[in-house]
Amino acid sequence: MAGLWFTEKQTENFGITMKVNKTLHTEQTDFQMLEMVETAEWGNMLLLDGMVMTAVKDEFVYHEMVAHVPLFTHPNPENVLVVGGGDGGVIREVLKHPSVKKATLVDIDGKVIEYSKKFLPEIAGWLEDLRVDVQVDDGFMHIAQSENEYDVIMVDSTEPVGPAVNLFTKGFYAGISKALKEDGIFVAQSDNPWFKGELIRHVQRDVREIFPITRLYVANIPTYPSGLWAFTIGSKKYDPLEVSDDRFHEIETKYYTKELHKAAFVLPKFVGDLVK
Ligand code: SAM
Repeated sequence: MAGLWFTEKQTENFGITMKVNKTLHTEQTDFQMLEMVETAEWGNMLLLDGMVMTAVKDEFVYHEMVAHVPLFTHPNPENVLVVGGGDGGVIREVLKHPSVKKATLVDIDGKVIEYSKKFLPEIAGWLEDLRVDVQVDDGFMHIAQSENEYDVIMVDSTEPVGPAVNLFTKGFYAGISKALKEDGIFVAQSDNPWFKGELIRHVQRDVREIFPITRLYVANIPTYPSGLWAFTIGSKKYDPLEVSDDRFHEIETKYYTKELHKAAFVLPKFVGDLVK
């Protein structure tokens, strides 16, 4: 793909196109087509099955918003699980919270971890931290075998296709509830309201039937489909909109702030209508 333009088709009729300086690695793994490319605009970028997963220049938005909203909502998160997330970005953000004693990452594809460490050190560079336990396994099975274990669970998976299809089911969310402690919180990346409104609607419906506090928040991610990204949060006890100011300890971020923590839940009308 060197010196060419790469297009990710975000729908049958619309895509995002970017100039690729060179291809760093391409491999059909046991689960997906893995491509690592150097782009002119966004730096090194991981693609899975032709879909943008993460890029050096804008990755901080997604990784900060997946991690810090639940971790500042929970008063004392110690044991954290990331399902998917093999690029390491969510783990990097989780480790910024001194209360976290253990961060487990379960990604089904070890090749994503291997090549993220090699070509995305700015993102994957914390996977060797002593607090991190990296497991190559199906997140669905890991959740099914867990009970009353985690304070916070983040689902940083690919789209609901291929290996991730089970990670968007009501049964999986019920399993997450079982895997969480009695006051646990979970967040799942929930795609975009422009092209995947029905997905957002049914995820909210399913999560709302399991968690007493269920909300949606959004962030601007230029390299993701439509540029507007949604996150579903399900909480057994703590409301992300009722976090006192003294809870927000200082951390280094480039997108997340304590003001944005609450503002992210103020939804454009067409998005709010999806989750009424
Ligand atoms: N931030 C990206 C997004 O929102 O689309 C996701 C990036 S992360 C690299 C996605 C990861 O989910 C991939 O590494 C993939 O291997 C992993 N994954 C997909 N299905 C999985 C499953 N059933 N269990 C564990 N990991 C899974």
